[in-house]
Amino acid sequence: MDYFPVFLDLKNRRCLLVGGGDVATRKGRLLAKAGAILRVVAPDVSSELRELVNTTGGELLLREYQKDDLQNCVLAIAATDIESLNETISADAQALHLPVNVVDSPALCTYITPAIIDRSPLVIAVSSGGEAPVLARLVRAKLETLIPASYGRLAQIASQWRDRIKARFADGDSRRKFWEKILQGPAAELMMNGQEEAANQLISDELDADQAQLVQGEVYLVGGGPGDPELLTLRALRLMQQADVVLYDRLVSDGVMELVRRDAERIYVGKRRAEHAMQQENINQLLVDLARQGKRVLRLKGGDPFIFGRGGEEIELLAQNNIPFQVVPGITAASGCAAYAGIPLTHRDYAQSVRFVTGHLKSDDTNLSWPELANPTQTLVFYMGLVGLKDICESLIAHGRSPQTPVALIEKGTTQEQRVLVSDLSAIADVVATKDVHAPTLFIVGEVVKLHESLKWFNPAI
Ligand code: SAH
Repeated sequence: MDYFPVFLDLKNRRCLLVGGGDVATRKGRLLAKAGAILRVVAPDVSSELRELVNTTGGELLLREYQKDDLQNCVLAIAATDIESLNETISADAQALHLPVNVVDSPALCTYITPAIIDRSPLVIAVSSGGEAPVLARLVRAKLETLIPASYGRLAQIASQWRDRIKARFADGDSRRKFWEKILQGPAAELMMNGQEEAANQLISDELDADQAQLVQGEVYLVGGGPGDPELLTLRALRLMQQADVVLYDRLVSDGVMELVRRDAERIYVGKRRAEHAMQQENINQLLVDLARQGKRVLRLKGGDPFIFGRGGEEIELLAQNNIPFQVVPGITAASGCAAYAGIPLTHRDYAQSVRFVTGHLKSDDTNLSWPELANPTQTLVFYMGLVGLKDICESLIAHGRSPQTPVALIEKGTTQEQRVLVSDLSAIADVVATKDVHAPTLFIVGEVVKLHESLKWFNPAI
């Protein structure tokens, strides 16, 4: 992070603004909105800026800048188009340790101003650290459409209730839960629709209600997708943002973990082949225990929780213990890897069906029906197939699948490090042996792999 974000309290504080043109006027408008007293210095000043000075009880000095203009100011902005003057103001302000901004000259600034979405008292600031202001503005435009204008009103009413709610819930955790319930529930809808009285009544009723109902915990079993965080569902993201504690394993990418609520407790439960940070039964029990403590527990898994994810086992115990839970599907590795590698899993000319298969041949419960897998018009996708790759290929050939069947091994699919190795059934094991391949990998077998060469370029993610 190149800059430390802060919000300054400028109410009734004097700020120096040098310049009187359009840019200075824009800055003056913002300063006035924040309650600052303006000291504007410029030989010529726009009529709007003049008006702003009057209404904020500020000073208008219609002359060139002088060093003394910085006296008693807490902040300085230079918005002139004279480079040498901007440099002087910056140097003078820095000598006095005053924060200074020179419009469009990052090198002369000690702070930069973000693009903002103003729903006062809710204000959202977006910055690219001066590196890509247009991108910051695009982000701002997106947020403008996402955040209802009425959020300002919501925040205002919330502030009126703050003290009473604080007095009612001494413990920060239950207080936060109460707020979330209010701000995501019908009371919020009423507030945003301008039905203030009804909203206040509802909040008051909720405050009187039995506190016990608030300590009920729950579990979200969420599919985090194969790696690229942009493949998360909206629901996954929302639950990730409101969980108190997260249990995650190795397949969940760093990019996805970044999106979990910052202050959520994180528990790594491992799960690499033959290396389990925590036994499955202990994970199941931990989910129950944490929910019983009233926590909102996020069980975050790679891909989809119901595809080779043992999600079924984890919620079984929850169901037995009457713990509320919900399951959120994720993009499974087969869909993610296939899409990002330009390999359609079915295609009218090449494959009429697709089959997801475990390649973990050594596990006690694996009992693959090889003759069924030999059908040449069926695409096979092997999960966990790296260690057993040679055996898989040999068995498929032995049961009648052509040795020339095209295959692809996709390493770390959908991430920045994705690699696609294409070969055929007879040769892929030797190719892999020379390539220093790392898990996770997905193995796709079938004629559809032929399409990779022509379709891969059309996927901008590769
Ligand atoms: N529930 C997960 C699968 C868990 S089994 C899902 O739906 O995707 C673990 C196997 O998934 C790995 O051994 C690997 O074969 C596959 N896998 C998961 N993420 C992957 C990725 N980003 N790239 C390639 N394979 C992946």
